[in-house]
Amino acid sequence: MSDSTQRPDWVPPNAGSAFTTSVMAGVDGGHDGLRGQTSVAVSRPTTPRRKRLTVDEYVAGVLASDRNVVAQTITLVESNAQAHFDMGQEVLRQLIPYTGNSVRVGITGVPGAGKSTFIEALGLHLCEQGHKIAVLAVDPSSTVTRGSILGDKTRMELLSRDLRAFIRPSPSSGTLGGVARKSRETILVCEAAGFDVILVETVGVGQSETTVRSMVDFFLLLMISGAGDELQGIKKGIMELADALLVNKADGDNRLRAHAARADYNRALHYLAPATEGWRTKAYTCSALTGEGINAIWNVISDFRQQITASGVLEKRRQRQTLDWVYSMVEEHLRASFFNHAGVGSIRTDIEEAVVNGHIPPTVAAQMLIRKYEG
Ligand code: GDP
Repeated sequence: MSDSTQRPDWVPPNAGSAFTTSVMAGVDGGHDGLRGQTSVAVSRPTTPRRKRLTVDEYVAGVLASDRNVVAQTITLVESNAQAHFDMGQEVLRQLIPYTGNSVRVGITGVPGAGKSTFIEALGLHLCEQGHKIAVLAVDPSSTVTRGSILGDKTRMELLSRDLRAFIRPSPSSGTLGGVARKSRETILVCEAAGFDVILVETVGVGQSETTVRSMVDFFLLLMISGAGDELQGIKKGIMELADALLVNKADGDNRLRAHAARADYNRALHYLAPATEGWRTKAYTCSALTGEGINAIWNVISDFRQQITASGVLEKRRQRQTLDWVYSMVEEHLRASFFNHAGVGSIRTDIEEAVVNGHIPPTVAAQMLIRKYEG
């Protein structure tokens, strides 16, 4: 949308990576999902160029659950370049009829709460039950920190080696809105490829929980006892987003404390509005390390899913989420269109200077910019 750069010799950034045995690399470098121009000058081992796929090949590959094509399709929809964007959207349009059939679960918690250990334990458990698991991450901070979640290949080592699981780190480009669009589309690609449980991990910072809440059916807040709520960044608002609170590390010496914390949270939850109509959010304990409680929390998620499917809440939730998604993209587009507008660009510096120096009020500055934009 915003970047109309055409690069005819484009090769998907992750093409050729060892897909089945490791966590896929995120989108490297310069924020557009493409190899930067500078990388051409840097000498690197030459990898055979992958044939550019057609729309039909992308679609057929995803529907056939071809892992390499799934990865390439995600890379395509993560690209900001106009040509890839259009192609990615056409691929998605054709995939849409095959989407929607997964249980979408969001998982949050502060760093150290045990998210990756938990996802690995749950993921392996579900694989054994015959499910196909996709693990995605929404981490807007990764632009700065270069991938703080799922970027590290040592995380979820066992799960990443399992052919029934697919692990994709956070798209590393841009704003939370941009990251969210890409993650939502990645969910659709994974569903079309037959993954029936989608686990979306996010870090307990800023707006990312709200964003992930808006793309999943069930939202799980992972906690640890003894760290203090403040330390865990547990604000009432985040607890209100959750369909379950799960006190992790309920093992060894910590077991009793974890159970006490669960009781405390259950009391606190009485006073909060539930995140999902007709569902009572409760606290549970587990140990991602020993596996205790993992099956129980999956039963909670399955019950939830059954209940909200029967009551129609799931359908309503997904419809609302889709519309929210549409309007968040409209906003994103308008924003990009405004900031890329040549006329706006030509007066912006002067207007900014005038407003910061107090020569014109902010409202007048905004009006001048919008008038220029609307031509
Ligand atoms: P994340 O940052 O939330 O993804 O947390 P990690 O999964 O990386 O876990 C942080 C640390 O807690 C690691 O050293 C884990 O081994 C440990 N850990 C995770 N789950 C458990 C658990 O259930 N019990 C115990 N005792 N340690 C755990």
